Amino acid sequence: MKLGTKVIHAGLAPPAQGEPFSAGVTFAGTYHASGETSASPFTYGRYHNPTWTQFERALSELEGSIAISFASGMAAVAAVFGTTLRADDVLVMPSDCYYTARLLADGFFAEIGVQVRKAPTAGDGLNQLLDGAKLLWLETPANPGLDVCDIASLVHAANKKDVLVAVDNTTPTVLGQSPLELGADFSVASDTKVLTGHSDLILGHVAVRDSARAEKLLSWRTQIGAVPGPMEVWLAHRSLATLEMRLERQCRNALTIAEYLMTRSDVTGLRYPGLPNDSSHEIATRQMRYYGSVISFVLADRACAEHFLKSCKLVIEATSFGGVHTTAERRARWGGDEIPEGFIRLSVGCEDSQDIVDDIAQALAAM
Ligand SMILES: *Cc1c(COP(=O)(O)O)cnc(C)c1O
Repeated sequence: MKLGTKVIHAGLAPPAQGEPFSAGVTFAGTYHASGETSASPFTYGRYHNPTWTQFERALSELEGSIAISFASGMAAVAAVFGTTLRADDVLVMPSDCYYTARLLADGFFAEIGVQVRKAPTAGDGLNQLLDGAKLLWLETPANPGLDVCDIASLVHAANKKDVLVAVDNTTPTVLGQSPLELGADFSVASDTKVLTGHSDLILGHVAVRDSARAEKLLSWRTQIGAVPGPMEVWLAHRSLATLEMRLERQCRNALTIAEYLMTRSDVTGLRYPGLPNDSSHEIATRQMRYYGSVISFVLADRACAEHFLKSCKLVIEATSFGGVHTTAERRARWGGDEIPEGFIRLSVGCEDSQDIVDDIAQALAAM
């Protein structure tokens, strides 16, 4: 079955007369449970919830593995770090990956004695740092710079040195890229972004192939308490059905807009892996099914970027990405990324591409 069909049916119970397609959300702190704790499938709300079970079944079908839902993308990142890294272990990670993942590594995990080594996503730098490492963290395409790395080739190098590999798959989603099929040990994502796509919830997940690793992640979630809210999970499952349609439209729009931005002399540093002349294009074409919904580019300076964002009427100024509404932000306002002051991250939504291009054109003209 194709992924576009799977996203619509994944996780749903078999048809039963008079039953709805999808079970409703179950809100439960505790459950009726007499006698031995093993006598009831559900006992306490931090351990399990039938709404999670249904959504995790869906994610597992899509990932072709065991998926565990977390309260946020960062809770998922922390679960992988927390279940693999101990004092004196070495973590290798991209210097250009998601800022908060770097903060967590350089903060809490460095403080408990984990050594953190970093190199850019592009080039051979990460591969050079693998000696004696415990975990190689990848993010491809990296956020917000949109460089990509070759997952299969880095997994091959890491395996030879007994290094585990985790891929932050947030930007492409499971539909756009399958890290586990490419050999990674962990596929991690913030489901706040493209996977759910409506900018109305915070959620994450981790997928793994072996059940021992899944058990560890599950114990971590239960003991740390990084559990997702049942309502968020139910909404996420509902949003999953439109993932392929949204992604297709967003990627088609993104390519149209990137092609338009290429014609502008006031735009520099344009990056979109779907552009044939982009430095990410070759590897992206090999390992991704979609080039994604994020474009980045640079305007002359901070003032120009701010003026551009203020002049947009349809494109909403907001952080995050992957939603049905087109959004943009001057990324350097956050700090933490090595990018120019005029760097714009544009997240392309599902609107009509002509309207988005028209809005960008009038905002650039106003600049
Ligand atoms: C947003 C994001 C995260 C963190 O996810 P939250 O849901 O905000 O906790 C992690 N990695 C990447 C690449 C992200 O974009």
